[in-house]
Amino acid sequence: MQGGAQRPAPVTGMSKNSDSGIQQRFEQLSRTVGELMEKAVQNERILRRYQQFELAMLSVSGLEPLLDVLLDGSRRHFQLDAAELWLLDRDATQRRLVEEVGIVREELRWLAEPAALTALYPTHQVSLASPPPAAVFRRRAVRSAALLPLIRRGQLIGSLHLGSFSPHRFTADKSTDFITHLGSIVAMCLENAVNQERLYRLSLVDPLTQVANRRAFELSLRTELARAARRREPLTLMLADIDHFKEINDQHGHQTGDMVLQQVAAQVQALLRQTDHICRYGGEEFAFILPACGPALAGEVAERIRICIDQLGLSSSAGLSVPVTISIGFSSWEQPDQQLDEQIGSQLLAAADRGLYRAKREGRNRTGFSALVFVAEESQE
Ligand code: GH3
Ligand code: MG
Ligand code: MG
Repeated sequence: MQGGAQRPAPVTGMSKNSDSGIQQRFEQLSRTVGELMEKAVQNERILRRYQQFELAMLSVSGLEPLLDVLLDGSRRHFQLDAAELWLLDRDATQRRLVEEVGIVREELRWLAEPAALTALYPTHQVSLASPPPAAVFRRRAVRSAALLPLIRRGQLIGSLHLGSFSPHRFTADKSTDFITHLGSIVAMCLENAVNQERLYRLSLVDPLTQVANRRAFELSLRTELARAARRREPLTLMLADIDHFKEINDQHGHQTGDMVLQQVAAQVQALLRQTDHICRYGGEEFAFILPACGPALAGEVAERIRICIDQLGLSSSAGLSVPVTISIGFSSWEQPDQQLDEQIGSQLLAAADRGLYRAKREGRNRTGFSALVFVAEESQE
Protein backbone atom coordinates (compact mmCIF):
# COMPACT_ATOMS: atom_id res chain seq x y z
CA MET A 1 0.00 0.00 0.00
CA GLN A 2 0.97 3.47 -0.36
CA GLY A 3 1.70 3.75 3.34
CA GLY A 4 4.81 1.71 2.87
CA ALA A 5 5.90 3.55 -0.22
CA GLN A 6 8.80 5.83 0.12
CA ARG A 7 7.99 9.43 -0.53
CA PRO A 8 10.50 11.24 -2.69
CA ALA A 9 12.73 13.21 -0.43
CA PRO A 10 11.80 16.86 -0.59
CA VAL A 11 14.41 19.25 -1.79
CA THR A 12 14.63 21.03 1.47
CA GLY A 13 15.84 24.42 0.37
CA MET A 14 13.32 24.77 -2.50
CA SER A 15 10.39 23.63 -0.38
CA LYS A 16 11.14 26.12 2.31
CA ASN A 17 11.37 28.81 -0.29
CA SER A 18 8.15 27.92 -2.03
CA ASP A 19 6.31 27.41 1.28
CA SER A 20 7.31 30.77 2.55
CA GLY A 21 6.51 32.28 -0.88
CA ILE A 22 3.02 30.82 -0.75
CA GLN A 23 2.76 31.87 2.85
CA GLN A 24 3.82 35.40 1.94
CA ARG A 25 1.43 35.53 -0.99
CA PHE A 26 -1.34 34.21 1.23
CA GLU A 27 -0.62 36.75 3.89
CA GLN A 28 -0.53 39.52 1.31
CA LEU A 29 -3.75 38.29 -0.19
CA SER A 30 -5.50 38.13 3.14
CA ARG A 31 -4.15 41.59 3.97
CA THR A 32 -5.56 42.87 0.69
CA VAL A 33 -8.89 41.15 1.32
CA GLY A 34 -8.91 42.56 4.83
CA GLU A 35 -8.18 46.03 3.52
CA LEU A 36 -10.85 45.70 0.86
CA MET A 37 -13.36 44.54 3.44
CA GLU A 38 -12.43 47.39 5.69
CA LYS A 39 -12.73 49.79 2.77
CA ALA A 40 -16.11 48.32 1.84
CA VAL A 41 -17.36 48.70 5.40
CA GLN A 42 -15.99 52.23 5.50
CA ASN A 43 -17.59 53.08 2.15
CA GLU A 44 -20.85 51.63 3.35
CA ARG A 45 -20.64 53.88 6.41
CA ILE A 46 -19.84 56.94 4.28
CA LEU A 47 -22.61 56.08 1.83
CA ARG A 48 -25.07 55.81 4.68
CA ARG A 49 -23.91 59.17 6.04
CA TYR A 50 -24.46 60.79 2.65
CA GLN A 51 -27.83 59.10 2.24
CA GLN A 52 -28.97 60.33 5.64
CA PHE A 53 -28.03 63.86 4.69
CA GLU A 54 -29.76 63.61 1.33
CA LEU A 55 -32.89 62.34 3.06
CA ALA A 56 -32.78 65.27 5.46
CA MET A 57 -32.63 67.63 2.47
CA LEU A 58 -35.46 65.88 0.67
CA SER A 59 -37.69 65.85 3.74
CA VAL A 60 -37.71 69.60 4.43
CA SER A 61 -40.11 71.88 2.66
CA GLY A 62 -39.40 75.56 2.06
CA LEU A 63 -36.31 77.53 1.27
CA GLU A 64 -35.37 78.53 4.80
CA PRO A 65 -35.32 75.00 6.27
CA LEU A 66 -33.40 73.81 3.22
CA LEU A 67 -30.75 76.50 3.72
CA ASP A 68 -30.58 75.49 7.38
CA VAL A 69 -29.87 71.90 6.36
CA LEU A 70 -27.35 72.90 3.71
CA LEU A 71 -25.40 75.43 5.73
CA ASP A 72 -25.78 74.31 9.36
CA GLY A 73 -26.88 70.69 9.04
CA SER A 74 -24.03 69.85 6.66
CA ARG A 75 -21.44 71.14 9.14
CA ARG A 76 -22.85 69.08 11.96
CA HIS A 77 -23.54 65.99 9.90
CA PHE A 78 -20.15 65.77 8.17
CA GLN A 79 -18.20 67.39 11.02
CA LEU A 80 -17.05 70.28 8.86
CA ASP A 81 -15.82 73.69 9.88
CA ALA A 82 -17.53 75.79 7.24
CA ALA A 83 -20.19 75.65 4.57
CA GLU A 84 -20.92 78.25 1.94
CA LEU A 85 -23.41 78.53 -0.90
CA TRP A 86 -23.22 80.58 -4.06
CA LEU A 87 -26.32 80.97 -6.18
CA LEU A 88 -26.59 82.37 -9.67
CA ASP A 89 -29.32 85.01 -9.62
CA ARG A 90 -29.07 87.12 -12.76
CA ASP A 91 -32.08 89.37 -12.12
CA ALA A 92 -31.94 89.36 -8.28
CA THR A 93 -35.35 87.67 -8.08
CA GLN A 94 -34.11 84.89 -5.81
CA ARG A 95 -32.32 87.33 -3.58
CA ARG A 96 -35.49 89.42 -3.25
CA LEU A 97 -37.49 86.30 -2.51
CA VAL A 98 -35.08 85.24 0.20
CA GLU A 99 -35.05 88.72 1.73
CA GLU A 100 -38.84 88.91 1.68
CA VAL A 101 -39.01 85.60 3.51
CA GLY A 102 -36.67 87.22 6.05
CA ILE A 103 -33.69 84.92 5.55
CA VAL A 104 -30.36 86.52 6.45
CA ARG A 105 -27.32 84.34 5.79
CA GLU A 106 -23.79 85.55 5.45
CA GLU A 107 -22.72 82.21 3.96
CA LEU A 108 -25.03 82.87 1.02
CA ARG A 109 -23.54 84.74 -1.92
CA TRP A 110 -25.50 85.91 -4.96
CA LEU A 111 -23.88 85.92 -8.37
CA ALA A 112 -25.22 88.19 -11.08
CA GLU A 113 -22.94 86.51 -13.63
CA PRO A 114 -21.91 82.86 -14.11
CA ALA A 115 -18.23 83.80 -14.56
CA ALA A 116 -17.24 82.88 -10.98
CA LEU A 117 -18.91 79.47 -11.42
CA THR A 118 -17.32 78.63 -14.75
CA ALA A 119 -13.95 79.64 -13.30
CA LEU A 120 -14.44 77.13 -10.46
CA TYR A 121 -15.86 74.37 -12.65
CA PRO A 122 -14.41 74.46 -16.17
CA THR A 123 -15.51 70.83 -16.66
CA HIS A 124 -18.56 70.87 -14.35
CA GLN A 125 -16.81 68.37 -12.04
CA VAL A 126 -16.63 68.29 -8.24
CA SER A 127 -13.30 69.54 -7.02
CA LEU A 128 -11.44 68.64 -3.83
CA ALA A 129 -8.94 71.35 -3.08
CA SER A 130 -6.27 71.70 -0.43
CA PRO A 131 -5.92 74.63 -0.09
CA PRO A 132 -9.18 75.90 -1.60
CA PRO A 133 -9.08 78.58 -4.29
CA ALA A 134 -8.79 82.12 -2.94
CA ALA A 135 -12.31 83.05 -4.09
CA VAL A 136 -14.07 80.67 -1.67
CA PHE A 137 -14.28 80.91 2.12
CA ARG A 138 -12.71 84.34 2.11
CA ARG A 139 -13.16 84.99 5.79
CA ARG A 140 -12.34 81.60 7.28
CA ALA A 141 -9.23 79.61 8.00
CA VAL A 142 -10.38 76.81 5.74
CA ARG A 143 -7.43 74.66 4.64
CA SER A 144 -9.23 72.17 2.40
CA ALA A 145 -12.63 72.10 0.71
CA ALA A 146 -15.02 70.09 -1.40
CA LEU A 147 -16.51 72.28 -4.11
CA LEU A 148 -19.78 70.96 -5.52
CA PRO A 149 -21.06 72.39 -8.79
CA LEU A 150 -24.84 72.70 -8.72
CA ILE A 151 -26.13 71.87 -12.16
CA ARG A 152 -29.66 71.85 -13.57
CA ARG A 153 -30.38 70.95 -17.17
CA GLY A 154 -26.70 71.15 -17.99
CA GLN A 155 -26.31 74.69 -16.60
CA LEU A 156 -24.38 75.78 -13.52
CA ILE A 157 -26.89 77.31 -11.10
CA GLY A 158 -24.66 77.57 -8.05
CA SER A 159 -21.91 76.10 -5.97
CA LEU A 160 -21.83 74.50 -2.53
CA HIS A 161 -18.57 74.61 -0.60
CA LEU A 162 -17.85 72.30 2.30
CA GLY A 163 -14.73 73.31 4.18
CA SER A 164 -12.40 71.96 6.82
CA PHE A 165 -9.67 73.56 8.90
CA SER A 166 -7.61 70.41 8.26
CA PRO A 167 -5.56 70.40 5.04
CA HIS A 168 -6.00 66.60 4.84
CA ARG A 169 -9.79 66.40 4.87
CA PHE A 170 -10.41 67.09 1.18
CA THR A 171 -7.47 66.23 -1.04
CA ALA A 172 -7.40 65.67 -4.79
CA ASP A 173 -6.62 61.94 -4.41
CA LYS A 174 -9.91 61.20 -2.63
CA SER A 175 -12.95 59.79 -4.35
CA THR A 176 -15.69 62.21 -5.42
CA ASP A 177 -18.51 59.79 -6.27
CA PHE A 178 -20.64 60.42 -3.19
CA ILE A 179 -20.04 64.15 -3.28
CA THR A 180 -21.02 64.32 -6.95
CA HIS A 181 -24.28 62.55 -6.17
CA LEU A 182 -24.86 64.89 -3.24
CA GLY A 183 -24.33 67.89 -5.53
CA SER A 184 -27.03 66.73 -7.93
CA ILE A 185 -29.53 66.29 -5.07
CA VAL A 186 -28.65 69.71 -3.63
CA ALA A 187 -29.22 71.36 -7.03
CA MET A 188 -32.58 69.68 -7.44
CA CYS A 189 -33.74 70.52 -3.90
CA LEU A 190 -32.69 74.14 -4.25
CA GLU A 191 -34.48 74.59 -7.55
CA ASN A 192 -37.60 73.01 -6.06
CA ALA A 193 -37.53 75.13 -2.94
CA VAL A 194 -37.06 78.37 -4.89
CA ASN A 195 -39.96 77.50 -7.20
CA GLN A 196 -42.14 76.50 -4.28
CA GLU A 197 -41.38 79.75 -2.47
CA ARG A 198 -42.07 81.73 -5.63
CA LEU A 199 -45.44 80.02 -6.09
CA TYR A 200 -46.33 80.52 -2.45
CA ARG A 201 -45.53 84.25 -2.71
CA LEU A 202 -47.53 84.47 -5.92
CA SER A 203 -50.51 82.91 -4.20
CA LEU A 204 -50.43 85.66 -1.58
CA VAL A 205 -49.88 88.72 -3.74
CA ASP A 206 -52.46 90.66 -5.74
CA PRO A 207 -51.08 90.82 -9.28
CA LEU A 208 -52.51 94.25 -10.12
CA THR A 209 -51.40 96.25 -7.08
CA GLN A 210 -48.59 93.99 -5.86
CA VAL A 211 -49.85 94.22 -2.29
CA ALA A 212 -51.03 91.22 -0.28
CA ASN A 213 -54.29 89.58 -1.35
CA ARG A 214 -57.20 88.61 0.84
CA ARG A 215 -55.77 85.20 1.61
CA ALA A 216 -52.56 86.78 2.85
CA PHE A 217 -54.64 89.24 4.84
CA GLU A 218 -56.42 86.46 6.66
CA LEU A 219 -53.11 84.78 7.52
CA SER A 220 -51.56 88.08 8.67
CA LEU A 221 -54.59 89.02 10.76
CA ARG A 222 -54.43 85.71 12.58
CA THR A 223 -50.68 86.13 13.23
CA GLU A 224 -51.01 89.74 14.34
CA LEU A 225 -53.94 89.04 16.67
CA ALA A 226 -51.94 86.31 18.36
CA ARG A 227 -48.96 88.63 18.66
CA ALA A 228 -51.15 91.44 20.07
CA ALA A 229 -52.52 89.04 22.67
CA ARG A 230 -49.03 87.86 23.58
CA ARG A 231 -47.63 91.35 23.89
CA ARG A 232 -50.84 92.87 25.26
CA GLU A 233 -50.62 95.58 22.64
CA PRO A 234 -53.58 97.16 20.89
CA LEU A 235 -54.27 96.41 17.23
CA THR A 236 -56.24 98.38 14.65
CA LEU A 237 -57.98 97.12 11.57
CA MET A 238 -59.01 99.51 8.77
CA LEU A 239 -61.18 98.97 5.73
CA ALA A 240 -60.83 101.53 2.95
CA ASP A 241 -63.10 101.78 -0.08
CA ILE A 242 -62.57 104.05 -3.08
CA ASP A 243 -65.53 106.43 -3.48
CA HIS A 244 -67.61 106.24 -6.63
CA PHE A 245 -65.08 104.00 -8.26
CA LYS A 246 -67.63 102.76 -10.73
CA GLU A 247 -67.87 106.29 -12.08
CA ILE A 248 -64.09 106.47 -12.51
CA ASN A 249 -64.26 103.30 -14.58
CA ASP A 250 -67.25 104.57 -16.52
CA GLN A 251 -65.80 107.99 -17.26
CA HIS A 252 -62.15 107.14 -17.88
CA GLY A 253 -62.12 103.46 -18.72
CA HIS A 254 -61.11 100.34 -16.91
CA GLN A 255 -57.40 100.92 -17.51
CA THR A 256 -57.50 104.22 -15.66
CA GLY A 257 -59.46 102.43 -12.94
CA ASP A 258 -56.62 99.92 -12.66
CA MET A 259 -54.06 102.72 -12.48
CA VAL A 260 -56.05 104.34 -9.66
CA LEU A 261 -56.03 101.06 -7.72
CA GLN A 262 -52.26 100.77 -8.16
CA GLN A 263 -51.67 104.36 -7.08
CA VAL A 264 -53.87 104.10 -4.01
CA ALA A 265 -52.09 100.91 -2.93
CA ALA A 266 -48.65 102.44 -3.47
CA GLN A 267 -49.51 105.68 -1.63
CA VAL A 268 -50.94 103.89 1.38
CA GLN A 269 -48.01 101.51 1.50
CA ALA A 270 -45.65 104.47 1.61
CA LEU A 271 -47.60 106.00 4.51
CA LEU A 272 -47.81 102.91 6.66
CA ARG A 273 -45.07 101.49 8.87
CA GLN A 274 -42.94 98.52 7.82
CA THR A 275 -44.72 96.39 10.40
CA ASP A 276 -48.22 97.31 9.15
CA HIS A 277 -50.01 95.23 6.53
CA ILE A 278 -51.87 96.44 3.49
CA CYS A 279 -53.89 94.16 1.30
CA ARG A 280 -56.41 94.32 -1.50
CA TYR A 281 -59.49 93.01 0.23
CA GLY A 282 -61.78 93.05 -2.78
CA GLY A 283 -62.35 95.02 -6.02
CA GLU A 284 -61.70 98.60 -4.85
CA GLU A 285 -61.47 97.82 -1.17
CA PHE A 286 -58.30 97.62 0.87
CA ALA A 287 -57.68 96.42 4.41
CA PHE A 288 -54.87 97.62 6.67
CA ILE A 289 -53.66 95.91 9.83
CA LEU A 290 -51.81 98.20 12.22
CA PRO A 291 -50.14 96.37 15.10
CA ALA A 292 -49.35 98.31 18.30
CA CYS A 293 -51.86 100.98 17.31
CA GLY A 294 -54.84 102.11 19.43
CA PRO A 295 -57.82 104.18 18.28
CA ALA A 296 -56.29 107.63 18.87
CA LEU A 297 -53.24 106.97 16.73
CA ALA A 298 -55.37 105.04 14.23
CA GLY A 299 -57.61 108.08 13.81
CA GLU A 300 -54.59 110.19 12.86
CA VAL A 301 -53.26 107.57 10.45
CA ALA A 302 -56.66 107.13 8.79
CA GLU A 303 -56.98 110.91 8.30
CA ARG A 304 -53.45 111.10 6.89
CA ILE A 305 -54.30 108.37 4.37
CA ARG A 306 -57.61 109.98 3.44
CA ILE A 307 -55.97 113.40 2.85
CA CYS A 308 -53.09 111.89 0.90
CA ILE A 309 -55.47 110.17 -1.54
CA ASP A 310 -57.66 113.27 -1.79
CA GLN A 311 -54.60 115.28 -2.84
CA LEU A 312 -53.17 112.72 -5.24
CA GLY A 313 -54.02 114.67 -8.38
CA LEU A 314 -54.08 111.74 -10.83
CA SER A 315 -54.70 112.06 -14.55
CA SER A 316 -56.03 109.58 -17.08
CA SER A 317 -54.02 108.53 -20.13
CA ALA A 318 -56.17 111.04 -22.06
CA GLY A 319 -54.81 113.76 -19.79
CA LEU A 320 -58.05 114.31 -17.89
CA SER A 321 -57.98 114.91 -14.18
CA VAL A 322 -59.19 111.93 -12.14
CA PRO A 323 -60.24 113.02 -8.67
CA VAL A 324 -60.02 110.13 -6.23
CA THR A 325 -61.23 109.96 -2.65
CA ILE A 326 -61.57 107.11 -0.20
CA SER A 327 -63.64 106.39 2.84
CA ILE A 328 -62.12 104.51 5.76
CA GLY A 329 -63.73 102.61 8.57
CA PHE A 330 -61.66 101.36 11.46
CA SER A 331 -61.84 99.61 14.76
CA SER A 332 -59.31 98.70 17.43
CA TRP A 333 -58.78 95.82 19.76
CA GLU A 334 -57.72 98.03 22.59
CA GLN A 335 -56.97 95.69 25.44
CA PRO A 336 -55.92 92.34 24.11
CA ASP A 337 -55.86 89.69 26.75
CA GLN A 338 -53.89 86.50 26.69
CA GLN A 339 -56.95 84.47 25.88
CA LEU A 340 -57.28 85.08 22.17
CA ASP A 341 -60.93 84.89 21.25
CA GLU A 342 -61.54 82.97 18.03
CA GLN A 343 -64.18 85.50 17.06
CA ILE A 344 -62.09 88.61 17.54
CA GLY A 345 -60.96 88.82 13.90
CA SER A 346 -64.46 88.74 12.47
CA GLN A 347 -65.72 91.12 15.16
CA LEU A 348 -63.00 93.61 14.28
CA LEU A 349 -63.85 93.29 10.59
CA ALA A 350 -67.55 93.79 11.27
CA ALA A 351 -66.78 96.87 13.39
CA ALA A 352 -64.47 98.38 10.73
CA ASP A 353 -67.16 97.72 8.15
CA ARG A 354 -69.71 99.57 10.30
CA GLY A 355 -67.30 102.51 10.47
CA LEU A 356 -66.88 102.42 6.69
CA TYR A 357 -70.61 102.28 6.13
CA ARG A 358 -71.07 105.33 8.35
CA ALA A 359 -68.31 107.22 6.51
CA LYS A 360 -70.03 106.47 3.20
CA ARG A 361 -73.45 107.41 4.53
CA GLU A 362 -72.19 110.68 5.93
CA GLY A 363 -70.95 111.78 2.52
CA ARG A 364 -67.74 109.80 1.65
CA ASN A 365 -64.14 111.07 1.72
CA ARG A 366 -64.13 110.66 5.49
CA THR A 367 -63.08 108.27 8.22
CA GLY A 368 -65.27 106.49 10.73
CA PHE A 369 -64.37 104.74 13.94
CA SER A 370 -66.59 102.02 15.28
CA ALA A 371 -66.09 100.41 18.65
CA LEU A 372 -65.56 96.70 18.84
CA VAL A 373 -68.77 95.01 19.83
CA PHE A 374 -68.62 91.52 21.19
CA VAL A 375 -70.95 88.93 19.73
CA ALA A 376 -72.95 88.46 22.91
CA GLU A 377 -73.70 92.21 23.12
CA GLU A 378 -74.24 92.49 19.38
CA SER A 379 -76.94 89.86 19.44
CA GLN A 380 -78.81 91.93 22.04
CA GLU A 381 -78.90 94.96 19.71
P1 GH3 B 1 -69.05 103.66 -3.38
O1 GH3 B 1 -68.62 105.06 -3.29
O2 GH3 B 1 -70.37 103.44 -2.69
O3 GH3 B 1 -68.01 102.71 -2.90
O4 GH3 B 1 -69.32 103.37 -4.91
P2 GH3 B 1 -68.42 102.58 -5.91
O5 GH3 B 1 -68.78 102.96 -7.29
O6 GH3 B 1 -67.00 102.74 -5.55
O7 GH3 B 1 -68.79 101.09 -5.57
P3 GH3 B 1 -69.39 99.94 -6.44
O8 GH3 B 1 -69.34 98.72 -5.55
O9 GH3 B 1 -70.71 100.32 -7.01
O10 GH3 B 1 -68.37 99.74 -7.64
C1 GH3 B 1 -67.11 99.21 -7.51
C2 GH3 B 1 -66.55 99.06 -8.88
O11 GH3 B 1 -65.19 98.60 -8.84
C3 GH3 B 1 -67.29 98.06 -9.74
C4 GH3 B 1 -66.21 97.22 -10.37
O12 GH3 B 1 -66.38 97.12 -11.75
C5 GH3 B 1 -64.95 97.98 -10.07
N1 GH3 B 1 -63.79 97.12 -9.97
C6 GH3 B 1 -63.60 96.04 -9.19
N2 GH3 B 1 -62.39 95.50 -9.39
C7 GH3 B 1 -61.77 96.24 -10.34
C8 GH3 B 1 -60.50 96.19 -10.98
O13 GH3 B 1 -59.65 95.33 -10.71
N3 GH3 B 1 -60.22 97.14 -11.90
C9 GH3 B 1 -61.11 98.12 -12.21
N4 GH3 B 1 -60.76 99.02 -13.11
N5 GH3 B 1 -62.32 98.16 -11.64
C10 GH3 B 1 -62.66 97.28 -10.72
MG1 MG C 1 -66.75 98.61 -2.59
MG1 MG D 1 -66.31 102.05 -3.66
